Amino acid sequence: MSSFYRTQTLKIEEQPIFSEVNAASGAVWNDCSTLMDFYQYQRGYPHAHRDFYFGKDCQGWMDKKLSNPILHSQSRQAVRERYFKSWKSYSALKKSGGIQQPKPPSKRKNYMTTRFKKSAIRFVEGNPRFGKRVELSLAAGQPKIDIPLPSSFDMSKAEHIATIDLCYNYGQWTLHFSYRYETATTETGEEVVGVDIGEIHPIVSHDGQDTHIYNGRYIRSLYRYRNKVLAEFSQRISRCKRHSKRWWCLTRRKWKRIRKIDNQIKDALHKQTTKFVKYCQGKGIGTIVLGDLTGIRNSIKYGKRANQKLHQWAFGKIAELITYKAKALGIKVKRIDESYTSQTCPKCGNRKKPTNRNYGCPCGFKYHRDGVGAINIREKYLGRFGDPVVAEMGSPRMTPPLGFRLKVRVASS
Ligand SMILES: [Zn+2]
Repeated sequence: MSSFYRTQTLKIEEQPIFSEVNAASGAVWNDCSTLMDFYQYQRGYPHAHRDFYFGKDCQGWMDKKLSNPILHSQSRQAVRERYFKSWKSYSALKKSGGIQQPKPPSKRKNYMTTRFKKSAIRFVEGNPRFGKRVELSLAAGQPKIDIPLPSSFDMSKAEHIATIDLCYNYGQWTLHFSYRYETATTETGEEVVGVDIGEIHPIVSHDGQDTHIYNGRYIRSLYRYRNKVLAEFSQRISRCKRHSKRWWCLTRRKWKRIRKIDNQIKDALHKQTTKFVKYCQGKGIGTIVLGDLTGIRNSIKYGKRANQKLHQWAFGKIAELITYKAKALGIKVKRIDESYTSQTCPKCGNRKKPTNRNYGCPCGFKYHRDGVGAINIREKYLGRFGDPVVAEMGSPRMTPPLGFRLKVRVASS
């Protein structure tokens, strides 16, 4: 029996206790940092000892040492978990060379998102005068945080609650609910689909027969607009005195605009990933293979740094959305190293870097560049990478934004 998570965000009114609680989480994070130094010093470890950070002994030891007058013990533990997770990903990045200079989690924090675990959460309903509410427990002896919920809040989900995060983002407080559901063990197909998360299009998939390209024009235009808004505001803000009335007004307006654009981008990504995963379900696909780009695209020259940022961000987000949506339907998601998948000719197996949007090989094979990536990612997963496979393929055509772009018939492999 496996499980999957669903999340939901809710904007809430500010309460004075919120910043106090998140400041306490920040303090616990800083304590983790101090304790880690102490622990390493005592053990005589060199600072970046390779596998040390995964040590269970240190985690348990740290849990006992951490104390805080405000936070619930499990919220403290959640900070510690994030701290170790962060070390772990630092260590993984250092090994893979995914980004150039990964930084260990040594930065001190003034504030940090606070996580409340199941035992610290209580949903209250029934009294018509007070409406629906959620109570979050703090340390023993501290009053609970009492947050009103909108009348439309679906209380039937309460039994599935796993965690609630108290977040502060650009002047807005939000609660992030995470619900845990069990997956019904359903029959899934044997079919494999390869996915290339490209620079131009968010998703390009190939299932052995059809290639689908999801148009990325809309998302890219939103991202360009976001950069434009940011640039405009920072120019105007730079002319004001820092922390002046005008400065604050502009800063608030800036983040309000950015939040709105970010939501539009998120919404578009949700629509496309849902469509893709539904399609996979309908096709009886059992495994989705994502090309993992950690460490490879680095060497490719980008025209603009903003594009790279968009791509890195979108890659993580799309992979995350596909993974959780597929899991909910019982579809497996695998990640494989995508090196050379965009350069190898699916017809003759020769390597050649594509120079523009279309891939062309001296053997006469022509195809959409991202489509080649998707075909090869699938082949690589199936262990047939580089074997000459494909016969003839049509040339892809464009379709309107937010939808499927094309369906190209490919001779069965
Ligand atoms: Zn070729």
